[in-house]
Amino acid sequence: MKVTYKLPILNYSYDEFEPYIDAETMYIHYTKHHQTYVNNINNILKSTCTPFLPIEKLIMNLNSLKIEKKIVLCNNAGGHFNHILFWKGLKKDTSLKGNLKKLIEEQFGSFEEFQNQFNHIAVSLFGSGWIWLILKNNRLSIVTTVNQDNPLMKDSVTNVCVGYPIIALDVWEHAYYLRYKNKRIDYIKSFWKIINWDEATHRFDTYKTFLMNN
Ligand code: MN
Repeated sequence: MKVTYKLPILNYSYDEFEPYIDAETMYIHYTKHHQTYVNNINNILKSTCTPFLPIEKLIMNLNSLKIEKKIVLCNNAGGHFNHILFWKGLKKDTSLKGNLKKLIEEQFGSFEEFQNQFNHIAVSLFGSGWIWLILKNNRLSIVTTVNQDNPLMKDSVTNVCVGYPIIALDVWEHAYYLRYKNKRIDYIKSFWKIINWDEATHRFDTYKTFLMNN
């Protein structure tokens, strides 16, 4: 039987991040939105001879695949991978430390200045998309992608957006509208209360391993 893509298992409950992200939003976001991306990739690939690739490899190699519906696959594969990063990127009570903290302070002047810039970019993104902290050539940048594009999709995003994702923030309305309505900035501020710095640090520290394998 063909290996298919699956929802990742969450190691927390839907109400874990109350009041910052409400349980209903978490439930719908994970079981409906994310599940749909997964179903769509499986449906597109079902009738093709494309070998199963880990999702990160799939989004990095979309252009070399010889299949129809490539744009739809790109949207849904991005949707799947972006949400994996988003779920992993949430955890209560972690703190920024180590080399990531050092580089943020070095490049942005202070953590507060980094946060201000991130918030400003996140609130200014028009329409649906993602805000990222990416790493490339030992430099951090805050970038945005539209729809479900990802900074690892070299062929789909502009060069300025290409890099290794360290932090991922979903600013599609489905991520916050039930609780925050039109106040995206309040959702962004809540994100900082539940950001998983352990995961961000881990991604930062394993970037070199990623480069060696890709
Ligand atoms: Mn989403």
